[in-house]
Amino acid sequence: RKLGIALVGLGKYSEGQLAPALQETRLCRLAGIVTGSPEKADKWKKKYDIPDKNVYTYQTFDQIADNPDIDIVYVVLPNSLHAEYVIRAAKAGKHVITEKPMATSVADARKMIDACAKAGVAFSVGYRLHFEPHNREMMRLGQQKIYGPVKKIYAQNGQKEGYDTPWRLDKKLAGGGPLPDVGIYCLQGAIYTKGAVPIAVTAKYHPKTDLKKFKEVEEGMDFELFFDDGTVAECKTSYNDTYNQLRGEADRGWFELSPAYAYDGLKGQTSQGKMDLENLNQQARQMDAFADCILNKKPTTVPGEMGLRDVQLLEAIYRAADTGQKVSTKEVIQHAFDP
Ligand code: NAD
Repeated sequence: RKLGIALVGLGKYSEGQLAPALQETRLCRLAGIVTGSPEKADKWKKKYDIPDKNVYTYQTFDQIADNPDIDIVYVVLPNSLHAEYVIRAAKAGKHVITEKPMATSVADARKMIDACAKAGVAFSVGYRLHFEPHNREMMRLGQQKIYGPVKKIYAQNGQKEGYDTPWRLDKKLAGGGPLPDVGIYCLQGAIYTKGAVPIAVTAKYHPKTDLKKFKEVEEGMDFELFFDDGTVAECKTSYNDTYNQLRGEADRGWFELSPAYAYDGLKGQTSQGKMDLENLNQQARQMDAFADCILNKKPTTVPGEMGLRDVQLLEAIYRAADTGQKVSTKEVIQHAFDP
């Protein structure tokens, strides 16, 4: 039997990416939904043939504990709500996936990991690019030092259209602006290209051009990640500009993706020519990989500890931007990445 997934929060990502991907998965399927909107519930029930007994509201959510159709709860809510729903899902005895960023504070991230460990359920972060062939090639080229050790990294992710949902501009719900939302891909990309966690960070906010829109969160930011062998990753993120790139430079060559973080249409190039790789459904691969971990009792390669590591690094980057100082990341857990 395919494992049953319940999506919590039927916004743009659930509707546009996850539900369609769940029509392609081999080891799991869309079995349930959790929504505050009766209209959405009706629409989804019809479209995806979901029985009434697998439809929950945020109030009735905890009853999911008694539903054997649901094996995995996938939390796709505004960032600061991830913690509450991951913890409730774990208490209901369900395996859990949470969207990125895992949480809006290190304290929340730790509570989520503890709740899943205590309940004995598997827990992963929706880091889809770990299952995407071009990004996996960046990991291979960088971590296996195919062109020699990577000395310099450039990672840029700026998104302008469609990133003005009210919660994304609300510090309490989002935890910040473009940094935790799309800049997190630069952080991830730099780390898995280098195959190491940075030891220090610096950062600088972009000047705000729209003070009303960006009242609570940054409009954009440049940040640098410093690795222990002297490698530097130059990163850039914004809600007011469009860029999408990941590049590694080593002694004997370079390799890059542009676009690097999109859902489809990724393109890769190296100093030796084009990367000849397929674009596959990233979310289907990500969810099937998690289902495989559960079915075959294997650890996930994108666990809560990796999400916590990134939340710790995001906090360090904000501290660097707020103080203008280089901030050491010695306290950050050294969670490994798996190529
Ligand atoms: P969205 O605004 O389209 O959807 C959010 C959903 O949460 C809506 O259905 C909304 O009704 C619901 N919701 C419940 N309680 C809410 C509250 N108190 N305030 C606001 N909304 C509430 O957002 P989205 O783009 O679908 O993002 C949802 C999550 O998915 C975020 O954590 C985001 O970072 C993540 N995401 C990940 C990717 C990816 O590529 N992995 C892409 C997009 C979004």
